Formats: sequence, C-alpha cells, structure tokens
Amino acid sequence: STFQDLGLSDNLLQAITDLGFETPSEVQEKAIPLLLDSEEDLVALAQTGTGKTAAFGFPMLQKIDVNSRTTQGLILSPTRELCLQIANEMKLYGKYCKGLNVVAVYGGASITEQAREVKRGAQIIVATPGRMKDMINRRLVDISKIEYSVLDEADEMLNMGFKEDITDILSHTPEDKNTWLFSATMPKEVAAIAKNFMHQPNEITV
Ligand code: AMP
Repeated sequence: STFQDLGLSDNLLQAITDLGFETPSEVQEKAIPLLLDSEEDLVALAQTGTGKTAAFGFPMLQKIDVNSRTTQGLILSPTRELCLQIANEMKLYGKYCKGLNVVAVYGGASITEQAREVKRGAQIIVATPGRMKDMINRRLVDISKIEYSVLDEADEMLNMGFKEDITDILSHTPEDKNTWLFSATMPKEVAAIAKNFMHQPNEITV
C-alpha cells in the first residue's frame, strides 16, 4: 500500500514526500489506519528501526488541534537521546502543520528553559519519565488535557526502573485518553502496564 492509502492528510503526505519515504513500513501499514480510524488503545510489538516513530507520530499529528496551545499528546521514552530523536522526527513529520510546537523534556538540561518552552504552548511533549515527573511536581506542566499518550520502548523504560514514575505521570492524565504502547518485547511487567492502564487495546506485531 501507499501512504495515501493509509488515510493521511495532505500536509503530512507532503512532509513524507520531502523526507523521501516511498512506502509505509509494516508497523506503519498496520498502526496508522487503526489509530486514525479509532479512538482505541494499542499495544504494538515492534523493534527500533522499524519506523515505529512515524507509526504513532503521524496519527498523533493528524489528530491533535494545532490551533489550540493545550498539551494534547505526551510521548514517554526511556533516554534523553531517544527523546531528542523522537522530538526531531515529530518536527520533521509535522513541518507543514502550521502552529505546531513539539517540546522535548529530559534530564541533564535546564528545567527552567524546558518549562519556558512548554509554557509557550506545546501541543506535544516528548519526555523522559524522571524529568516529566519533576516538572509535574513543580507544576511546570499541565497534562490534565492529554488525549493521546505513547509509551515508547516500554520494556526499556521498565528495565530502567521507571515504573513508578510512569504510573505517577499517567495518574495526572485523563482517564479517557488513548494510550499507545510500543515495546520490543512483552515481559509480564509490560503486560501488567497494558492491563492496568489500557482499555481493551488493539494488538499488532511486526
Ligand atoms: P524508527 O524505527 O522510528 O526509529 O525509524 C527508523 C528510521 O527509518 C528513521 O530514520 C526514519 O526516519 C526512517 N523511516 C521511517 N519510516 C520510513 C519509511 N516508510 N520509509 C523510509 N524510511 C523510513
């Protein structure tokens, strides 16, 4: 299939053309139509390098309202490097989404500067769990209107001991948001997160 077949809007298709992506990867083919057409949770078993960032990124970009400055999308990822990489990809994918602000929030850099960027109005925040929790505790961020949350590399986040932080962060988000969990493996700890925080998720494996 083609990116057009997946139901993506013209401004996203234009960015895809600019990036030189010719055909959707398997995880994109499976996840994008599902996420665009439903307001349901998703558990996706997918390794890094499969194009999973675009698999959740394009649907999130298509669904958020860029005319609002409210934070609507939250992407949690295990490391600062990954966090920056996802934020950069989201900016590229959303280059024709006028008014879009994607902000990366991670440890080891100025929390004041990150708080300033968030305050300017970020529709999407890409964060590591520790810094995100810190920002919530200090009331530097409002995630009470989140509609779409992504747990990227969920197995890695749990391996790194972020279970409590993730639980705490999700408790500050609305009950009726959608959660999209991506993980390379499905150990029982990840299955427990899916069971406790998600509602009858769709499942895909690549
Ligand atoms: P990810 O698995 O999300 O880290 O993506 C791995 C790399 O593949 C990134 O550099 C993406 O920009 C690139 N990529 C994602 N989707 C496609 C696609 N459909 N065609 C070509 N490259 C892609």
